[in-house]
Amino acid sequence: MLRARSVGGFAQVDPASTPGYDGDKKTGAAELAAVGEKLSTLQEMLFAEARSGGDRSVLLVLQGMDTAGKGGIVRHVGGLVDPQGLAVTGFGRPTRTEAAHDFLWRIRKALPAPGHIGVFDRSHYEDVLPVRVHSLVPESVWRPRFDDINAFEAELAASGTSIIKCALVVSKDEQKARLAERLKRPDKFWKYDPSDLTERAYWDEYLQAYQEIFDRTDTDAAPWHVIPADRKWFSRLAVAQILLETLESLDLSWPPANFDVDAEKARLAALDD
Ligand code: AMP
Ligand code: MG
Repeated sequence: MLRARSVGGFAQVDPASTPGYDGDKKTGAAELAAVGEKLSTLQEMLFAEARSGGDRSVLLVLQGMDTAGKGGIVRHVGGLVDPQGLAVTGFGRPTRTEAAHDFLWRIRKALPAPGHIGVFDRSHYEDVLPVRVHSLVPESVWRPRFDDINAFEAELAASGTSIIKCALVVSKDEQKARLAERLKRPDKFWKYDPSDLTERAYWDEYLQAYQEIFDRTDTDAAPWHVIPADRKWFSRLAVAQILLETLESLDLSWPPANFDVDAEKARLAALDD
């Protein structure tokens, strides 16, 4: 079945490939729906477990260049489960308040509560991406962040949060096509950001920055998955599948009743109205 491409050379990943999956867009959509059924049940079990005192949660970190499809993953994969159990957070340029704190401050505030699936649309990795590429802080500040991130994620994993990190890889050509689409359709203008073109000029610098992220932060506690993303149907299926495998690995079960089922049945039966 579908396997995420494990991290090797980021620049070697073919963004148009569908590793581990030999179906097409049509079968992919059907498969996504099937994965969704299972995801939905397991997410409810995770939620139920927390209601009975469990402390486990899941965090899905989405990274990728502009137009890579992060928002589509939130909508199409996040949309497969009960929104009450989902906590989606997008991270843009830090506000003044956020910038006055350590880079993990705003991240910690957005972590999923027990029973929830947190989804980060961008994350603490931005603090070693645009921040590095544009020298927003000196190297002496951003470089130690790899260690800070590993320590943070290890602590998070130890406290019961399963961490999934997905980097969506879009090709430069496909990005251009998606930007053109945004400029062609009035219903997509809102997605267009002139600064995306500025960032595109730093493509190779971003690739290099991503590569170092994988080299430094692909840990057992928080592994990276590199997701070819030129075919949206594939990237959505791949992320959904990884999320499903993570939930399956939790060995969830429905919590037992914390009341006497037979006694409650008897009480209900005895009601006269
Ligand atoms: P979007 O994801 O399209 O809403 O854009 C958010 C923008 O905020 C992107 O250009 C990110 O690179 C930028 N961004 C997010 N986090 C940071 C950060 N910590 N430092 C600088 N820029 C950031
Ligand atoms: Mg954008």
